[in-house]
Amino acid sequence: LAVEGVQALSPYQPGKPISELARELGLNPDEIIKLASNENPLGPSSKAMAAAKAALSDACLYPDGNGYDLKQKLSARFNVTADQLTLGNGSNDVLEVIARCFAGPGSEVVFSQYAFAVYPLATQAVGATPVAVPAKDWGHDLDAMAAAVTEHTRLVFVANPNNPTGTVHDADALETFLGKIPENVLVVLDEAYCEYMTGEKDPDGVALLSRFPNLIVCRTFSKAWGLAGLRVGYSISSPAIADILNRVRQPFNVSLVALAAATAVLDDDEYLQRSREINTAGLKQLEGAFEQMGLRYIPSAGNFVAVEVGPQALGVYQALLARGVIVRPVEGYGMPNHLRVSVGLPEQNELFIDALAKALAAAG
Ligand code: PMP
Repeated sequence: LAVEGVQALSPYQPGKPISELARELGLNPDEIIKLASNENPLGPSSKAMAAAKAALSDACLYPDGNGYDLKQKLSARFNVTADQLTLGNGSNDVLEVIARCFAGPGSEVVFSQYAFAVYPLATQAVGATPVAVPAKDWGHDLDAMAAAVTEHTRLVFVANPNNPTGTVHDADALETFLGKIPENVLVVLDEAYCEYMTGEKDPDGVALLSRFPNLIVCRTFSKAWGLAGLRVGYSISSPAIADILNRVRQPFNVSLVALAAATAVLDDDEYLQRSREINTAGLKQLEGAFEQMGLRYIPSAGNFVAVEVGPQALGVYQALLARGVIVRPVEGYGMPNHLRVSVGLPEQNELFIDALAKALAAAG
């Protein structure tokens, strides 16, 4: 029935929902700590919430299918033109539309081992051949990825920072890599976590667009902007690429409420700043605790960190669940010894660390 390869897909595994675990444990939902889906622990921006509520009075209308207001704000922010933008129902939607437009049976799609789970899914769903390139020190081996490009390659996905490893390549490395990719191969630079980066030579895909017309930069409102539940993401590319993406996406793929909230949150730089600060402090708190506990972790540039708890990781995950703490096992990524924990508020991080110490002690 299905296109070749689709039956072999393993479905995307989201974090366990709070309501489900609360029911299982007989607890109130507010007694559960969920650090499993790289969500923003601050709660939504009050400006975004006010705009979303106001938009509800137009709920009987279709949304603006071209997202005019949001595109105006994004163009001004990034100094690009509105015709370079494609909006999506989360950046996942954009990633899938890209695969549908540019890959298919007979074409190859290159990405890294341990890279974001949607790349192989989007690839296989369109009947293209996934080429997973072995990682280096948990991160993308950009040289090997460039070398993996063949005459059949249509797309290369690069997550920078990557989920679930948190690894990142700096601006120079990225530029060198892009210089090696033939112009007829599109590079999708997924910068879902870029707002969290605090390094000196942080990469900025948007700054590279004018030199690399084959580049598509994907970003999202789900992480540092705190709107994961509303589903808004976007890509910035050449107008020619955006034109194709905009033909194939669904006509009203971003809801009216989501458009209003995303447009408003772009005026809330204070919220973004707080997201960044709480994340930097939380990462330090988690990494410091792991060091004290003698646990290895992968230094992260995102809002999460992968910690190595050993071959009993699934048992530790279960023991954490029993204590009302949801994190993310990453054995599906081929990382059976790690758990990925999202950065929470300071008190949530503390409760997680305490539960982890107990879970590890119980696991022996
Ligand atoms: N890219 C990466 C690397 C991610 O980790 C995520 C979220 N898990 C996404 C894209 C998709 O995010 P969204 O669809 O919420 O924009």
